[in-house]
This record gives sequence, C-alpha cells and structure tokens, in this order.
Amino acid sequence: MTANATSLPNAHPYTGTDKIIVGNGNQLAITHIGNTQLTGLHKSLNLNEVLCVPAIHKNLISIRRFCCDNDFYFKMDANGFYLKDNKTEKVLLTGSSFDGLYHIQTSLFIACQIACYGKRTTQDVWHARLGHPSYSVFTTLLDKYHLPLDGAIVSNKNCHICSLGKSCRLPFEDRQSHAQFSLAFLHLDL
Ligand SMILES: [Zn+2]
Repeated sequence: MTANATSLPNAHPYTGTDKIIVGNGNQLAITHIGNTQLTGLHKSLNLNEVLCVPAIHKNLISIRRFCCDNDFYFKMDANGFYLKDNKTEKVLLTGSSFDGLYHIQTSLFIACQIACYGKRTTQDVWHARLGHPSYSVFTTLLDKYHLPLDGAIVSNKNCHICSLGKSCRLPFEDRQSHAQFSLAFLHLDL
C-alpha cells in the first residue's frame, strides 16, 4: 500500500468495494491500484497490485505477496532483514528495523520512459576519465565499449599527468656555475 498514486505508473482507479481497516477500526478508502517496482541491489523487484490508500502514513508491503511476485526469500531478525534470490543466493535488498517496523531503504521506481542524450567528447577527456591508460589499453576500451570520440584518435598525444606519474625522480636544479676547465665539475646521478 502507498499513499502516493504518482509512485504507481499506469495506476487505474479502484472500483472494488474493499476498504483498509486499521487498528482503531477506521476504514480507509482505496482510490487506485497499480504495479510498480523497487530498485534492488542487482535488479528491480516487482510490486504487483499495489493499493493507493491516501490516508496511510507509511508505505506497507505484504511480505508474502512480495515473495510471490518475485523469486526470492525473506529473512529477518531483531536488527533487520534481507532478501535473497532463490537461484543465485545474491542479496537483493537489505533493511534495518526500528520503531517496530522493517524499513526498506529504497524508493519506489517509477517505470516511466526517460529520454537521455550525451555529447561526444575529446580523446583527452576520455583518457582522463579512464584513468590515464596507455594508448593500446585506451584504444581497446574505446572499441570494446563503443565510446563516442569527438575527432580522430591520435597515437602520440602528450599527457602531462601521465608524464608526472611515470617520473621516478625530480628534475635537476638549474645551476649558474660553469666549469673553467675539463673535469672541474663532476655530476653524479646516484
Ligand atoms: Zn594521461
């Protein structure tokens, strides 16, 4: 149950006669019904036939229905709960317990269509984003993941960060002294 009908994409008005009866005997009206999803750790989790009850103060989930709508199992103790996939045993959702309730730390996923657009960027930016890889690794990543590049790729690009990263010694200081004859100064690189 949720109080907010906007979290139910494609919700439609509830035409049944059922009411939600709460502890003090009040009967709460159901206005809409619809499906939605929760964003889990590895995949989205289905919530089918969710009731919109505007008078409730907290979203409530029937664990049995939740487990029936998804192929997972639910375990809880005094501190919290977790959901695990029946086949893979992967943890899909965790939560803590306080105020006598188990709280799911995620938001209702609204399955609406979202338009996204991106902009091609330069070789220098991709090189930095990918962690300053070598040219061969860089081209492999570009090909493998079809990264959109603005302009042609250049093999001998100079990167100041890479140069600093590969330097193992500081440069020699400038000296103003000059030798007056051969072997007057000896420079040793120890
Ligand atoms: Zn670099």
